[in-house]
Amino acid sequence: MKITYTIQETKDQIKAWKKSGYSIGFVPTMGFLHEGHLSLMRKSAQENDKTVVIFFVNPTQFSPSEDFSKYPRNFEADAQMCEKIGVDLIFSPSVEEMYMGDADTFVDVDKLSKELCGKSRLGHFRGVCTVVNKLFNIAMPDRAYFGQKDAQQLAVISRMVRDLNMNVEVVPCPIVREDDGLAKSSRNAYLSPDERVAAVILYKAILEGERLIKAGVRNPEKIISEMKKIIGTEPLAKVDYVEIVDSNSIEKISVIKGQVLVAMAVFIGKTRLIDNFTCEV
Ligand code: AMP
Repeated sequence: MKITYTIQETKDQIKAWKKSGYSIGFVPTMGFLHEGHLSLMRKSAQENDKTVVIFFVNPTQFSPSEDFSKYPRNFEADAQMCEKIGVDLIFSPSVEEMYMGDADTFVDVDKLSKELCGKSRLGHFRGVCTVVNKLFNIAMPDRAYFGQKDAQQLAVISRMVRDLNMNVEVVPCPIVREDDGLAKSSRNAYLSPDERVAAVILYKAILEGERLIKAGVRNPEKIISEMKKIIGTEPLAKVDYVEIVDSNSIEKISVIKGQVLVAMAVFIGKTRLIDNFTCEV
């Protein structure tokens, strides 16, 4: 497994692989890996000749009040996990390598970025789209793997790829959960033992939402209110949002029909966690 730190050496390696006819799978992450990340890498390794993983905690997708400087990092352990899975290249650039001081170009997916998490994380998706676009240009992947855990990110990136005719296939990957149902996340490391127990309330709300839809409830407000009731039983939890939208357009729907995304963000103490489920009705 090769590790690169500069854009030039990464481009050179990938160009050489492309010249040899190898397909490139691409997994962008912020590091501090867990089974969710590894599932994306395994899928990429199955479907491509070469798998390229990015470790980059991207400052432009954090707002000033967020946790950029204390975001957890563990390069050595992450690299070992990648090696075991059969990753071919880790690209781990510094912030200075990725951003020139006078960078003045951004990619905005306008409407989709303003909904759900976009309301409380201003500029987040602009940061995500710009960096993913840059990374696509560096890694020139055939396929890029994104987790459904970040359902809005998946929708926004898919729209960017479609709208800008990018030569990459976006491959969605299912949410990986802990045994008690909590979606795996690097941010779970922030939870105290009590908060970790409390965090399972997100999954309980998900199960209730799924149950109601399966039982034939078609009124989104009814489902949202029942899910919020469940979250409200946990004293350490505070709802940021629970919403039901079309999973492609991220627009609110008035009746449960078509490709539906039920998404939520909930504070457990100071840690903001997201979770969701999708279904086709
Ligand atoms: P992050 O390092 O949090 O930016 O995540 C990198 C990628 O891993 C994104 O595409 C995430 O959606 C994906 N991911 C994170 N957690 C999970 C999970 N629990 N299950 C599946 N994919 C995940």
